[in-house]
Amino acid sequence: MMSDQDAVALTRDLLRFDTVNPPGRERECARHAGALLEGWGYRVEYHEYAEERTSVIARAGGSDAKPPLCLTGHTDTVALGVSPWTRDPFAGESDGDRLYGRGSSDMKAGIAAILLAARTVSKKLSGTPGIVLVLTAAEEGGCIGSQHLARTQLLGRAGAMIVGEPTSNYPLVGHKGSLKFHAKFRGVSAHGSMPELGVNAIYKAAKAVSRLESFDFAVKPHPVMGGPTMNVGTFAGGQGVNMVPDEASIGVDIRTVAGMDHQALLSRIGDLLGEEAELEVFSDMNAVWTEPGQAWVQRVFEICGKVLGARPEAKTATYNTDAGNLLKVYSGAPTVVLGPGEAKLAHQTDEYVSMERIRQSVAIYEALIRDWCGL
Ligand SMILES: [Zn+2]
Repeated sequence: MMSDQDAVALTRDLLRFDTVNPPGRERECARHAGALLEGWGYRVEYHEYAEERTSVIARAGGSDAKPPLCLTGHTDTVALGVSPWTRDPFAGESDGDRLYGRGSSDMKAGIAAILLAARTVSKKLSGTPGIVLVLTAAEEGGCIGSQHLARTQLLGRAGAMIVGEPTSNYPLVGHKGSLKFHAKFRGVSAHGSMPELGVNAIYKAAKAVSRLESFDFAVKPHPVMGGPTMNVGTFAGGQGVNMVPDEASIGVDIRTVAGMDHQALLSRIGDLLGEEAELEVFSDMNAVWTEPGQAWVQRVFEICGKVLGARPEAKTATYNTDAGNLLKVYSGAPTVVLGPGEAKLAHQTDEYVSMERIRQSVAIYEALIRDWCGL
């Protein structure tokens, strides 16, 4: 059996791997987690979408009657930032209840809790629906690892999903979706003293930005998530002030809410901007939303409520997760975001996690696995 010490010790072990993304280099950390899982009897696969960018899929149990429960998390972290740290970001220093390190809250504590819950039940899953663990590379800055897994046939199936991102062990029933694209406009170059001989691509891009500023999504606000948003975040074009620019491009970030169809939205935007806009979508993940009244979500609320001291209400995360990609394969699986880290500490200088929350998280995950598998 595990001791309380193990949950913190394992988080510390994971913190020692530098998986700052970019460049990522999750391989060693992923192999460490995978080796532990293999030692506990899991069937482990490694998948690399690029050199050293390693995701892990581990399974135990399995039955035809009911698909497994998926627990997922990412092993990469964001950069340290420009402000100096007062703690070593990779040593796992502790102070009182706080365990410091880059990725402590987001989300190596979550990975450690998933691993330890998996260890506790490892010998009991045979003949049950079982579990599938998906430990992804490259979540930060685009969910590239999970996108790769979703495009291939590697994920198998899952009947429900827990995303171990930082929520202070409060189960969240979804988050907004993300649709990001560049729109490129072409013109004809000419000397700046004879603009009538050219076609100015920046004028085209500027008109597009104006149209987008007054874009009406025409959707009712979601009762929990609120409304969708749009931001034009980049504007580029022109090579010199004395030239007519023959190319310009803008970068657009749309956050959607549950129920919105990204293809339909894109085609509306395409119509609005006209044929001259070349749209290049580089991130497309639907909003994640599970009805709070759904039976399994109610079980999650009950189990978490015992630890939290009050029954949770329906809330959603402000950030994106890998679930947007994984649900392309685990279509319709009820999903909660639930992990021991503190969301407000994610990406911060001197990031830390509550050690007590890591221990609670192991107990919550274990209870949810037992509930799903009928142990
Ligand atoms: Zn995260």
